[in-house]
Amino acid sequence: MRFERPEKLATVLSVIIAVMVISAMVQLSLWYKQTPVWYPILGAGIIIGGISFILIRFGLYQFIYEKVKVIYKNIHELKVGSEYDEEQVARTSDLDMVEQEVSEWAEERRAEIKELKERETFRREFIGNVSHELKTPIFNIQGYILTLLDGAIEDPEINVKYLKRANKSVERMINLVQDMDMLNKLESGVLEIKMQNFNLAQLVRDVFEMLEEKARNKNIILKINPPSEKPVMVVGDPGRIEQVLINLVNNAIKYGKKGGKVEVRFYDMDDKILTEVSDDGIGIPEEDIPRIFERFYRVDKSRTREAGGSGLGLAIVKHIIDQHKQTINVRSSANMGSTFSFTLKKGK
Ligand code: ADP
Repeated sequence: MRFERPEKLATVLSVIIAVMVISAMVQLSLWYKQTPVWYPILGAGIIIGGISFILIRFGLYQFIYEKVKVIYKNIHELKVGSEYDEEQVARTSDLDMVEQEVSEWAEERRAEIKELKERETFRREFIGNVSHELKTPIFNIQGYILTLLDGAIEDPEINVKYLKRANKSVERMINLVQDMDMLNKLESGVLEIKMQNFNLAQLVRDVFEMLEEKARNKNIILKINPPSEKPVMVVGDPGRIEQVLINLVNNAIKYGKKGGKVEVRFYDMDDKILTEVSDDGIGIPEEDIPRIFERFYRVDKSRTREAGGSGLGLAIVKHIIDQHKQTINVRSSANMGSTFSFTLKKGK
């Protein structure tokens, strides 16, 4: 029911009441076999009609006010951003459509605002992280250049050393930009995965070859298990899976023990192949494990940043495995080593 004109409705109702009162009094007079006395009867009808008009009008305004109050309260709570509490919102049992629509509208806006706030926090954190990551190499490069300009350039003992160090910092920045670019492409869906059958064991050998020198510098042995040349066929995008292996083996070497061992193992699990990449290095404390796949998350900020790397390697790995609709897990304990394991669909 809609009350666009409360006065009109109150007038109609009070006239009906007045007419009913007058006819009841006339009926009563006739019942007692008396001629109706018109003046008092009409007077009583007008007075009762008038009182009814005031009461009905007041009641209607009260009723409408209650409804508007609920609507207003919804909008107000949305504006001040207070947490939505359904219990708190006073509701009458006969909420009409308008109130329901406003509630739904408010609910939608609330969800939208929450998402926008989350995005804003994410954006702020991301910019903070990127500038933080860039600050160290930029200041390092500036330091080396200033020292060279101050005269070190004439010293054949240190000039090449400083230039090499500056170049290392440039490489670090290139790494970061490349990883950010990769993550961005992965997330925006530009890089679609092209599924095909391929030999995962061969891919691991290629990655080992790529990282051989790095491992040798730390006296780390790279092992594949089973060591036979037998192919391990899987379904996936070989380019993306190569990136996963590079990041995992690279981390295993980076955070591995000097003179230790990095091993890649394959397990046959019905329709899947489980691949494990393990090291016997510094390990990851239990409380950090749930967070290591987050962008820029590092366990020991200073130590791991020193080891180089963008802090995005595992975020990229997780993204690629998610894209393959597979899972990745970590087992690790501090100073004992870490094992990263991921699944892939078995190929032919
Ligand atoms: P980073 O470029 O810092 O290596 P990642 O995303 O690859 O970034 O890894 C995130 C963090 O997880 C690292 O900073 C490190 O603290 C921890 N981590 C990753 N792999 C290992 C590992 N094999 N052993 C110990 N810690 C690891």
